[in-house]
Parts: sequence; structure tokens; C-alpha cells
Amino acid sequence: MKRVAFYTLGCKLNYSETSTISRMFEQKGYLKVGFEENPDIFIINTCSVTENADKKCKKIVKEAKKISPHSYVTIIGCYAQLKPQEIAEIKGVDAVLGAAEKFRLIELLDGFAHAQETKVLASEIHEADTFHASHSMHDRTRTFLKVQDGCNYGCAFCTIPLARGKSRSDSIAQVVATAQAIADSTVKEVVLTGVNIGDFGIQEGKRKERLLDLVKALDEVDGIPRFRISSIEPNLLTNQIIEFVSRSNRFVPHFHIPLQSGSNTILRKMGRRYLRELYEDRVAKIKQLMPHCCIGVDVIVGFPGESDELFLETYQFLNELPISYLHVFTYSERANTRAIDMEDVVPMKKRNERSKMLRILSEKKKRKFYEENLGKTWKVLFEEDIEDGMMHGFTENYVRVAAKYDPLLINEIKTVTLTEINKRGVVDVVEPEVVFE
Ligand code: SF4
Repeated sequence: MKRVAFYTLGCKLNYSETSTISRMFEQKGYLKVGFEENPDIFIINTCSVTENADKKCKKIVKEAKKISPHSYVTIIGCYAQLKPQEIAEIKGVDAVLGAAEKFRLIELLDGFAHAQETKVLASEIHEADTFHASHSMHDRTRTFLKVQDGCNYGCAFCTIPLARGKSRSDSIAQVVATAQAIADSTVKEVVLTGVNIGDFGIQEGKRKERLLDLVKALDEVDGIPRFRISSIEPNLLTNQIIEFVSRSNRFVPHFHIPLQSGSNTILRKMGRRYLRELYEDRVAKIKQLMPHCCIGVDVIVGFPGESDELFLETYQFLNELPISYLHVFTYSERANTRAIDMEDVVPMKKRNERSKMLRILSEKKKRKFYEENLGKTWKVLFEEDIEDGMMHGFTENYVRVAAKYDPLLINEIKTVTLTEINKRGVVDVVEPEVVFE
């Protein structure tokens, strides 16, 4: 029995895909083992957003070869689609597969036998036009369920459309069937995952369904107490979706909404499909219906043309918005994007300073959000996340909480009262009573 190990870099989508590919191996009789358990085959799923994707990839290949010198090393993922030849040059790599090939790797790399030359199977990205359903099964509490892939937007800084292709989705019927199968497992939370989830509904190049109907259909699936919409573009987050989530018992009050910049000048240069006024309006609508809803924001600092004044516009905009945390990205040049040819490049030192400022703002926002939740009663899903005798979990509205470790609580949803923010910035809870429903 051949032994296969996996390594995943990047986002939830990559995790869901690695998980599905690993199950394909198991179905074919391979034994899935840990990275350090002397595998015969390594599958490394890469990311192109990650800084220094090339260095990271090289480092993992080197580690893999050190663990198993005679192993067969395969590279898949966004970086593999964008730079297949570059990866093929890395010592120790046996095969590189692109977006259209990665789900067929067992059949394409028949037997995983070493060859003189590195095998490069990476078609042009427009050939990656099929939707491959995936979901993660790496922990028993939460699943990342891929409902959509690719993006048609073409923002000036982004390589994702080049790495993942056009927007395409699973059908509602298929997603619901997968969710029903997940409901039979121990999983208590499903996180909807995709590149541009709001664009859900395109099948074979045609818009056939819409996200609102998917959300409504999933809301009827028994056996899954929680669904989370991971990230949604502000221009696609409709009033109807917000209203439905506010009434739903299963869709939790948490939205992650990319902003990228609080300056309309920069938003236009980025080619984003909204202005700050729309973003403000979306946040206001959410807060009006769900005052304790968690709102996460993606923001990029140091995009070409972002002067001190324009950065300050972003800073002030975010400072005034009732949001809960930020994910800050420092702009970095990417080949084959429109932004790479833009003038008024921001010096790296400035980019880093701005990033630091926004990270501090994020901490401030998170603390304020946590404070607003103190004294409130929420349901917490406890996870196998244990540190110094404490266990952790998240409320529906994404407050991370700590409680005294009790093995009986793992993977249980308990009603707790949030008491205080501890030294580590996590909210302590009144010890939950263990009652089994
Ligand atoms: S919406 Fe823009 S940033 Fe997001 S994946 Fe599409 S092109 Fe990239």
C-alpha cells in the first residue's frame, strides 16, 4: 500500500480541495499518512497570494525530500498554475499539475513512478472550466464546503482569475446533498467557501442560480446547527441576504466583507465594483438588523497611488465604521496584473508602516467588539483547541472564548455568558454546565 502525505498552503478553498483529493487517494487504496511519516508520495497544494510562494514551495520540497529521499513530489494549486516551469526547476519536484489537471492527478501520474524529466501538466487557465466539488474533513467540528470557484472580476492587483479561472459553481441540489451527507457526521459548522461566493450560480458559463436561494435551501438542512458565509463582496451582499441571515437560526451573524480601500480614488484604480458609500450602507444595514453581528474586513495597504492623504481616508473610514476586525494585506507586485504597470509606487517602508497602523486598529476594533459582547449570552461551539488547561471555541458572532478544559465539551454547543476579556485577548465564559441534549 503506497503512503501519501499532503501539505496545504493558503486559503480555505485549498484546504477543502486537498481534503477531497486525499479522499480520492484513499478510495484508490492509498494510505494517507502524516507529512513526517515517511510517505512514498507528497502532494503539496500551493498558494499564489502567499508572500514568497516560491521560497515556501522550495522549503517544503526540501523538507519532504529530507524525510523521504525516494518519495515522489507533486505540486498543485494556484502557484503551480501560475508558474509551472519555475516550479519544475526546483530540485526534487517530480510533477507539477495545473488547475485543470489537479483533480485527475492519480490517473495522470499513473503509479507515481520517477522519470528523468519533471512532468509538467498545466493547461491554459481557460481550460479549467469544470467545477469540482470539495469539502474539508480535517476536523470533526467544522467543514469548509466549496460552493463556487474562480472569478470574473479582474481586480487590478489580483492573480486569482489567472490561477483559478472563470467563475463557476456547484448546483444548489448538489451542495444540499453534500450538506446532508456532512450532517450525518459529527461536524457542527459548515463554512461556505469560494473565491467570489456572492457570484454563486454560474454553471457552464451561464447564470442559473443565486446565492440567496442556496442560503435558503441550506437553512432547511437538518443536523447542521451552523452555517457561516465566509467572505462576500459588498456589491453582492444584498438586502435580501442580510435580512434572511438576520432571521435564520442556522446562518450565523458574521460577515467577512472585502473593502480593500476606503478611498474612492483607489477603489476605482483597483477596478473594484463599488465605492465606499456602498460599503458603509451594507455595514449600516447589517448593524440595523443584527447589532451584534461580527463584520470582518479585508484591506490592502500600499496600492500604487495611495498617498498619505488617501491612506488616511482609509484609516478614518475604518476607524468610524462599526466593524469587528481587519485582515490587512500589504500590497505586493504580481506578474501579469494591471497594477504592476501603475505609477506612483508606494515605498515598501511606507507600506509596512501603514500595515502596522491598521493592524493596531484591528486589535482596537476587536477589543471593542468583544467588550460590547460582555454580559451577553451566546452559544459557543467548543473545539479541540486546548492551551494551558483552557479550551476554546467561537460564538455564533465569532467571539473567541475560553473555558476550563473539559473533554466532554469538545464539539458541543453550549450556551454561555461572556464574562471578561482575559490577558490573551480571549473572552472567558461562565463555566458551562455540561448537559447533553
Ligand atoms: S473579486 Fe477581485 S480580488 Fe476577489 S478574486 Fe475576483 S479579481 Fe480577485
